[in-house]
Amino acid sequence: MKVLVPVKRVVDYNVKVRVKADGSGIDTAGVKMSMNPFDEIGVEEAVRLREKGVATEVVAVSLGVAQCQETIRTALAMGADRGILVETDAELQPLAVAKLLKAIADKEQPRLIILGKQAIDDDMNATGQMLAALLDWPQGTFASKIAIEGDGVTVTREVDGGLETVALTLPAIITTDLRLNEPRYASLPNIMKARKKPIDVMKPADLGVDPAPRLATLKVSEPPKRKAGVKVGSVAELVSKLRTEAKVI
Ligand code: AMP
Repeated sequence: MKVLVPVKRVVDYNVKVRVKADGSGIDTAGVKMSMNPFDEIGVEEAVRLREKGVATEVVAVSLGVAQCQETIRTALAMGADRGILVETDAELQPLAVAKLLKAIADKEQPRLIILGKQAIDDDMNATGQMLAALLDWPQGTFASKIAIEGDGVTVTREVDGGLETVALTLPAIITTDLRLNEPRYASLPNIMKARKKPIDVMKPADLGVDPAPRLATLKVSEPPKRKAGVKVGSVAELVSKLRTEAKVI
């Protein structure tokens, strides 16, 4: 069983992002970029499936600028077998990503595609769902546990009220939630080995997809600054302020 794992290059989660002066987006110049954390969880899950003998091949796919090769190399160092880079400088929105991933799925014929539930840069939480719709495959989103049994997969989903378990027939789409697993750190020997693993590079046009954006960003702004707090002199004063001044926002 082949598993496809889309991995997005995003601003590292430790970086405090800054909005560009003209409000057109986030300033990424000189900023540390890493693999989207939910995609690390996807790679880990796929590699564990291969280690258990359930998956035969794990293919990491990234879409975007040439530096996405580094993100793919990280996935290869974690244990993925090979990579595919769809290289473009165009701004990629979820529908374009889903169309490109569908074209790759048509070529590669994976039985399972494990995406992150969302990319931490734009928080769209849309690509997995759109891809499931385009492929007409069942989807198990926000997965905190998965179990492959024969021709199906059972997915435990994190929903508002608790956990929901769904049974899907393969091929299927899964999106990862935080508790699915704890991704491994790549060891130095595996980082070295990853350098020799193959990465196919192609352009959106090779897949017959026009990645032009459908949404226009009107404005990006910083969240409002928090007002300074006050120091209270005693517990009694605190209780009194809570009674008379505190408001639910
Ligand atoms: P989003 O819908 O943008 O929040 O992204 C959800 C998931 O789709 C991510 O966690 C990735 O698994 C995948 N994805 C989105 N954009 C890309 C990209 N440019 N390259 C590879 N995977 C992507």
